[in-house]
Amino acid sequence: MATFKSIALIPAAGMGKRMGASINKQYLHLNGLPIVARTISVFEASPLIDSIYLVIPADEIPYCREHVVEACGFLKIAAIIPGGKERQNSVMNGLRAMREQISDDDVVLIHDGVRPLITESLLINSINSARLYDGALAAVPVKDTIKIASNGIVSDTPPRESLWQAQTPQSFRFDKIFTAHLSAESEGFIGTDDASLVERIGGEVHIITGDYRNIKITTPEDLVLAEAFLTVMERERKQC
Ligand code: C5P
Repeated sequence: MATFKSIALIPAAGMGKRMGASINKQYLHLNGLPIVARTISVFEASPLIDSIYLVIPADEIPYCREHVVEACGFLKIAAIIPGGKERQNSVMNGLRAMREQISDDDVVLIHDGVRPLITESLLINSINSARLYDGALAAVPVKDTIKIASNGIVSDTPPRESLWQAQTPQSFRFDKIFTAHLSAESEGFIGTDDASLVERIGGEVHIITGDYRNIKITTPEDLVLAEAFLTVMERERKQC
């Protein structure tokens, strides 16, 4: 029996403009369920997860409550919190909302609302690693050569062996991630993920092996890929 709790924090307060759909991309259906509902369902179903904090654009909260939380019968949602301007602000809103309810050594798993193909094994590895290090980052080795360029001119080609593509979940003890967010906020630093905030205050972030199928659904092509991956994953599950 774990002596700590594991809390999911799902930032889903982006506007999803790159999808070009008339509704926020996260409500588009992926094999019959809204994308964000599929994401939540993995945490809802996991015996490791105690509760879920969901961050949504303020004006979408009633829609999300009715069409996602109530329609799917999710029982672990502790709060639905209004998002902020940047992803980092949305995560901080979530951390502030949970602060009074949880302990410093509880583990917070921060996971993008638009990454529905997260697996239970990734959750387990992420929680275990967050207990041992200052942070646990799911990532996969980059497959392509990456160039650094400005104004269309390449200035560097970093060695591929040391390059990783960051995913979520990114998991941390609550005190560590809250301190990192407070520091970034007070110094006006904006990062594109949570691990980078821990790194900048000297924290040791450990990479756990992510999954190439754990994609962020950002553009219409991603939705096609996600449908294909999901079909294969469901077939694999049935064979077990
Ligand atoms: O914008 P990006 O692709 O990095 O979004 C990753 C996740 O962060 C998405 O699930 C999105 O809804 C969320 N996000 C947020 N608040 C914002 C911007 C993005 O919760 N202001």
